[in-house]
Amino acid sequence: MTVLFASDLDQTLIYSRRSMGNEVKPEELIEVERFEGKPQSFMTEQSQAALWELEANTIFVPVTTRTREQYERVTGIYEGSEPPQFAIISNGAVILENGEPIKEWSTDIRRQCVRRKTVIEEILPVIQQHFNEEWVLRVRQAEDWFVYLIVDRARFPEDKLAYYTEIFHKIGWGMSLQGRKLYLMPESITKAAAMEYVRDRINADYVIAAGDSLLDLDLLESADTGLLAAHGEAVKSDADVSEHIIVTEEQGIKAGEEILAKVADISLQSK
Ligand SMILES: [Mg+2]
Repeated sequence: MTVLFASDLDQTLIYSRRSMGNEVKPEELIEVERFEGKPQSFMTEQSQAALWELEANTIFVPVTTRTREQYERVTGIYEGSEPPQFAIISNGAVILENGEPIKEWSTDIRRQCVRRKTVIEEILPVIQQHFNEEWVLRVRQAEDWFVYLIVDRARFPEDKLAYYTEIFHKIGWGMSLQGRKLYLMPESITKAAAMEYVRDRINADYVIAAGDSLLDLDLLESADTGLLAAHGEAVKSDADVSEHIIVTEEQGIKAGEEILAKVADISLQSK
């Protein structure tokens, strides 16, 4: 049977120096992304090998909140192997097939966002109203899809997170805090919906999904097996998850290895 392995990238399969944890030796690391001339993200050698040695029945699809430009920097995940046929980027607003966006998919997502009034022009004044605070360093737009704030975590009021979440939820936007980035995401843009589109295209019989943040939970919920990294926002926020979602024992870049080992097991059993 065909297995779809739909996985988040950052802090699930790939890690910055800041997020990887300290149990890993420099010689175990493979650079997978370079930004402004500097190594930015890594996998362990073991993870990269595990990813590319998955059984032929298992199809890997990256599912990331990165925009196309940000995703295209992460060439190291498939170096020495074929790039994935499908990649889900911009949190599911865009699906790349052989490197090119599927136009009809994004047009449909755009239509849903317009209908629900969850477009960037609508959210900017609300951001201005609630986030005119000294801890907001920058407000960035991810293409035309969503917004993220770069925040000063030392000054960010963690105790007000639930309050902000509720305000934006009422107007159709989800919130996710990952490191220095606070994402505001239209509820019509989900990783799960894009994964389901790809699952149908490749006729997958079984889906394994992996992730770490609140933006990954819908993806994991709609999979047959979900693998959730223990260090991530989703576990820390105590969100309710279904029984088919397993939390890793390891943290940091070693959680990435654990996820890939589990995927290899399932893939082998379903041959
Ligand atoms: Mg992530």
